[in-house]
Amino acid sequence: MSGKKMVYFFGGGAADGDGKMKELLGGKGAGLAEMTLIGLPVPAGFTITTEVCDLYYKNNKQYPAGLKEEVEENLRKLEKLVGKKLGDPKDPLLVSVRSGAPVSMPGMMETILNLGLNDQSVEGLAAKTKNERFAYDAYRRFIMMYGSTARGIEREKFDHIFEKIKEEKTRKRLNIPADRKVNDTDVNAEELKEVCKLFKELYKKELGEDFPQDPEVQLWGSIAAVFNSWMAEKAVTYRRVENLKGIIGTAVNVVQMVFGNMGENSGTGVCFTRDPNSGENVFYGDYLVNAQGEDVVAGIRTPMKLAELKERDPKVYQQLEEVRKILEKHYKEMQDLEFTVEDGKLYMLQCRTGKRSPIAAFRIAVDMVNEGLITKEEAILRIKDKDIEGVFYPIIDPSQREEMKKKFLVQGIDAVPGAATGKVVFTAKDAEEWAERGEKVILVRKETSPEDVGGMHASQGILTATGGKTSHAAVVARGWGKCCIVGCEKIEIDYNKKLFKVGDKIIKEGDPITLNGSTGEVFEGALKLVTPELPESYYTIMKWSDEIRKLKVRTNADTPYDAENARKLGAEGIGLCRTEHMFFDTEERRLAIQEMIVADTVEDRKKALAKLLPFQKADFKGIFKAMDGLPVTIRLIDPPLHEFVPHEEEAQRHLSQKIGVPFEKVKHRVEQLKEANPMLGHRGCRLTITYPEILDMQVTAIMEAACECTKEGIKVEPEIMHPLVIDMKELKILEERTRQVAEEVMKKHGVKINYLVGTMIEVPRAALLADKIAEVAEFFSFGTNDLTQMTLGMSRDDAGRFLPDYVDEKKTGIFKDDPFQSLDQEGVGMLVKWAIEKGRSTRPNLKVGICGEHGGELKSVKFCHRVGMNYVSCSPFRVPIARLAAAQAVIEENLKK
Ligand code: PEP
Ligand code: MG
Repeated sequence: MSGKKMVYFFGGGAADGDGKMKELLGGKGAGLAEMTLIGLPVPAGFTITTEVCDLYYKNNKQYPAGLKEEVEENLRKLEKLVGKKLGDPKDPLLVSVRSGAPVSMPGMMETILNLGLNDQSVEGLAAKTKNERFAYDAYRRFIMMYGSTARGIEREKFDHIFEKIKEEKTRKRLNIPADRKVNDTDVNAEELKEVCKLFKELYKKELGEDFPQDPEVQLWGSIAAVFNSWMAEKAVTYRRVENLKGIIGTAVNVVQMVFGNMGENSGTGVCFTRDPNSGENVFYGDYLVNAQGEDVVAGIRTPMKLAELKERDPKVYQQLEEVRKILEKHYKEMQDLEFTVEDGKLYMLQCRTGKRSPIAAFRIAVDMVNEGLITKEEAILRIKDKDIEGVFYPIIDPSQREEMKKKFLVQGIDAVPGAATGKVVFTAKDAEEWAERGEKVILVRKETSPEDVGGMHASQGILTATGGKTSHAAVVARGWGKCCIVGCEKIEIDYNKKLFKVGDKIIKEGDPITLNGSTGEVFEGALKLVTPELPESYYTIMKWSDEIRKLKVRTNADTPYDAENARKLGAEGIGLCRTEHMFFDTEERRLAIQEMIVADTVEDRKKALAKLLPFQKADFKGIFKAMDGLPVTIRLIDPPLHEFVPHEEEAQRHLSQKIGVPFEKVKHRVEQLKEANPMLGHRGCRLTITYPEILDMQVTAIMEAACECTKEGIKVEPEIMHPLVIDMKELKILEERTRQVAEEVMKKHGVKINYLVGTMIEVPRAALLADKIAEVAEFFSFGTNDLTQMTLGMSRDDAGRFLPDYVDEKKTGIFKDDPFQSLDQEGVGMLVKWAIEKGRSTRPNLKVGICGEHGGELKSVKFCHRVGMNYVSCSPFRVPIARLAAAQAVIEENLKK
């Protein structure tokens, strides 16, 4: 990195960097520079850039050439500015060495304080400050931090020595009763001297060398410790869990020490400029008298609230309040601050955008618009999809943190967020029965199938051993906003014994468990859940978003209940009604569809279909009513028929008896339906090509419902959709038959309905030939679940086994996101763009939407806006996310202009 600046200085009112340089200087470094520039009291120092960290790793943990010289130069500059020298035996400069990544990773990386102390300078510090106790307290902290953080000695070994002195010396000297803890502040200078001596002996014993007395050695050892903490397991895990990608490393901040442990007039604290839990505009934080920063974080003593500080030390509080005002005005954002008070004077050590609860995110954004700090557009851009999810779902009561640690059982994949607690059951039937008698249950399955929907619905939450985020369980549960964890491969389910094992732990049927669908964690026992109420500010943000967005937002819903619910959440129609889900609701329906499948003549099939017709019609009527005045896209039957029939002998015998067909025939038919690749087999419109009578029944049901609703004064806009189409001729056959049936029904009822006939685009061939297909289709709806599956050639149900390797940045980084969740804009996206362009080249007013899972994912919705879709459609609970994303897309587009 020849010639590239590696170290940035700040101090004396000037700084080489500024607040915008977070990528290079890390959040802390950028904040310190910016606070210096705006005249806040910040101790001077310098920041080694994140690029150096990157090079350090690329060079096999060697510092890049020129770094030593640049650090030296900045150190001299610092010494000159503050008039003290590092290692000076009389009046030493002491520094802290702190990590600081571009994105805050609280507590994940290392910090070393009081660097520069040695056997001589500690005496100098004592003399200069006339405070021997303080000097030796600082020294013992430094030896411990350096020894454990930079050199890997177990921290407990230091703690043990300190505790021993406290018990054997301090307690006796002060006559502290046995039931009262000896505080760090009780320990006097003599005792601290002894602690330092014992710490150094431990250091020598553990490492076979003396504790370094040379401050330069201390400095470089500490810089390495910070860089090394970047790749420490907890930091790596944190980045994975938070999905933090593309960050090259941590910066290192070397800053002049200010001391919060100088006596009663000193202290240290952490605060937020607003309440990070409620978002309320109140100063929020903790302050610890006579302490250094690590004491607050470590929870050694209970700190006082800021309100108490205001009472106790109004002068200090006033300085803080002043800084709070300046920083909020400056950053126009809630800040998370660290500060130290040294002998009554305030110093700012850190400021960064504060992490907040979802409720607080909404409240702060709206309040700041009302306070004139930001615009509505900025407020909308600040809300994240996670914030929206977070305000809806029940959560595990956060006060049970300890309990959660103790009861943690196993980790799965977080498919649908929120939390749920209930008794374990292993079959959908049990789930329904237990729920019927008022039990709250969690359905635990190896995987789920469409036949389980009843039981899934009756459960509080769903846990499966296999599957990924778009597996059946996940897709269905998401539609209901029901907490769901999938791919929990460590659980071994024994259906016969009705139990599951995690290692040697056994959870039996009826045992309570708790799921955290937001993290994928499973807990033993029933933890307490709380449902946060929707804050007013949520509605405000949504209203502003609706005023801005251009994309319409519809929902995927199969029942009147879901439709109504989605409408309340802002859905402007239905983009996908999966009719087959309606076949599973009751045994009567299941039997009718099964009878239809088992039938081997057209006549028998028609007879069975006739039984289904009234059910479908009634459901469609309910949906049309719920969506009065809004468009409703109804998709004809899609899954392969084998999914509808039982595979176990007992169930087949039951079916044979119920529909009066010999068992052997039922069994034979089920075997006949088996396919090697059902997802590429006889499904979608291929079924209605083979069995047009299914189309006849479904279109009749739709149009009858539409006519009857119209007569009742309900405004219907049906859009009949054919799935899995691959060719114009194929669609033409289906379209003609659809219109023929529709016309007949309308004629019979004497009603004219404006209906559309269109297709899903979910096979690459259909996307490629979109211009031809648009000659027939009045609308396209991208089924990006299948389109992704078929474009990537990866099974949407099984990709969970290997996809993580493709998404893992450290392993391969082939994909930035899971393509089944966030649209693969590069690959699948190209087909989408192509199909829209081609489609509109033949039919300029072609209506285009999306109904795959991606229609409710933030980044994908923005893509849909950019490629000119008319609407997105998603699960009811994701409708608000789509509304927000659509608004953000417009705002971002305007910003680019
Ligand atoms: C799709 O494939 O994206 C789609 C919406 O259809 P389904 O998920 O029902 O296959
Ligand atoms: Mg599909």
